This record gives sequence, C-alpha cells and structure tokens, in this order.
Amino acid sequence: MHQIRKIFPVLFLLMLISGCYTKKIVYNVYYTKPFDWHPEEKRDSTIRFFSPYFQGLKIFLDPGHGGTDRKNKGPQGLAIEADVNLKVALYLRDYLTKAGAVVNMSRDRDTFISLDDRSRLANEWGADIFISIHHNAPARPDDIYTNYTSTYYHAFPSDYEYDHSSHDIARYVQRDLAYAMGNSGGLGSFDGTYSDYLIYPKAGFSVLRKTNAPRILVECAFHTSAYEEQRLVIDEFNQIQAWGIFRGLGRYLRAGIVRLSIANDSISISKQKQIEINIDDQNVGIDTTFYVAQIDTQNVKAFFRLSKNEKKIIIPIFNMNMRPGLYELKVVVKNINGNHSFPFRRKIYLMK
Ligand SMILES: [Zn+2]
Repeated sequence: MHQIRKIFPVLFLLMLISGCYTKKIVYNVYYTKPFDWHPEEKRDSTIRFFSPYFQGLKIFLDPGHGGTDRKNKGPQGLAIEADVNLKVALYLRDYLTKAGAVVNMSRDRDTFISLDDRSRLANEWGADIFISIHHNAPARPDDIYTNYTSTYYHAFPSDYEYDHSSHDIARYVQRDLAYAMGNSGGLGSFDGTYSDYLIYPKAGFSVLRKTNAPRILVECAFHTSAYEEQRLVIDEFNQIQAWGIFRGLGRYLRAGIVRLSIANDSISISKQKQIEINIDDQNVGIDTTFYVAQIDTQNVKAFFRLSKNEKKIIIPIFNMNMRPGLYELKVVVKNINGNHSFPFRRKIYLMK
C-alpha cells in the first residue's frame, strides 16, 4: 500500500509525458501557410488588393447542418462537420467584411436551420452571391482514406435551370480552396467542380435549387478521412480554408461581374418590335461571340448593340409571330475574361 502511493504520481507523470493516457491516434499532420496569408501584413495587403471588387457586395454564407443535425463526424469523433463548417464560415465572414462586402449568414452559432429557410433567408435578403460550406463523406462509411476538395453548381450545362455564373464562381473558389488546403479535386472532373445532379439526379441540392443568386456548395474536404479530420480541428487550418475561399472569390470578382436588366417588361409587339436588355459589364468588355437568349426555354436570335453610351443585347420579335401574353425570358452574356452574367430570368408581357 505504502509503495503504491509512492509510485502512483510517478506513473501518472510518465503517462502524461508519453501521451499514452489517450487511445486516439495522433498523425503528424502537415499543412502550408499560404504566402499571401502569412504573415499578417501580407494578409492585410491582399485583402486591400481585392477590396475594390467586394465593395457593397451582399454575400450570404451558409454553414451546413448544426443544432440537432450534428451527427456527421470524423472516425475519431474529433471533427464534427457542423462545427467545422461554422468555423470556416465565421473566418470567411471576417475576411469578406474586412474587404468591404456585406455578409449575412444562415446561422452564426450552433443551431438548426431547415434547408428551405437557408434559401429563403438568402432570397429575401437579396443576396448577390450564396456560398454553402460543407465537409464531405464517402459512399462507404468505413472508408477513412478518401479525401479531396470539390465544389458543386446546380444542374448540368444543358439544363434550363443551369446558371453559368454559378459555375464560374465554383471554378474560382475550388481552385484557390484546393490550393490553400493542399488537396486535389476528385475523380471525373479536371477542375474539381461538379454538378449537383450527379448526387441527386434532376433535383440537385436543395440550397442550390431554391436560391436565386449565383450559388455554390463547397465540400472543403472529407471529415471522414482519418488524416484530414486532425487538420480540420486546428484553428489555424480553418482560417486557411476560409482564406482559400476568400481568395478564389476575390479573383472571380476581379475578372468582373456582368448584370443584365430590362427597362420595361411590358413590350408592345407592334410598336417596339424588339426586346432590349441592358448590359452592365463594369466596363470590362463583352465577348460578342457568345450569348444565350431564350423565350419560354426556346433559343431565339439576338444581337449586340455596344457603344460608349449604351450596351445592349437585343432580341428582334417582329418576325416571330408572337401572340400577346406572358413569357419567360432568359439571357446570358459573358465578358472578355470569361465571366458570365448573373442569372437573368424575367417574366415579360407582350402586348399588341
Ligand atoms: Zn454536409
């Protein structure tokens, strides 16, 4: 008895030092600090560099899961997906706010928000860009090796509901996020972007289907990877993840966004003979070799009218034998840097 009392503190100390008091596997995890993020002066100068493009832009962040929905976790139970999503989103909010963007979030704490509410809140707020943040899991639950970074856009390019600008943002964010984390993309996509129809055919992800703004869903990495799990619980690594998304967005915006508008959505067939859509390309320049113009999902011909004073894409309707009534118009153009216009789908009323 006397001997045990003497030995116990020594044993306890030994256990502490050797780390054998825990059964958890500890990998020697590795990550690099992006050169423009570390040290802090570099980070601030990069934020300043991108800030002209973020001014006043309304960015809605949607950290996936939370509250009662927090069952997704890593093999050792260290990384809870809901919590990692939130941490990355909060760091991203800091960077975006510092750059001059206006940021709103579906949740900024551990609480349950329905999928419908996530889209509804973004739509009601009038978000310019919607980013849903998640971490991935493989088809086989016992697979602790699969790990890559992927970014989703809605529908396939041949579908009416596809939005070109969402795919543009997906490409930029995916590239910089994967680079910052030191991950590659998955199989079957060279640039690491995927249609959500590959996961849920003809439906896709609810938050991408129901949100109006250009929208993406990032699966930063697999929280189910035994190795990745241990990086995802490192605070500094979550900041680097957020930085990857921030820089991708910054580069996307720097290439210029394009917005379309229509002055009057009641058009007289006999008097106007054409539909005129205004182009705001932030003076980057329009690539006149590309356009999509559709009336009630059917392709129609259009032409550009570009001068110093006006930038328009024009759809002649005098030779189309259109009856008066309500139609849906969809138009896409792109700028000379390859960025497509924000979603433009509008009901128009054709009068006699
Ligand atoms: Zn998720």
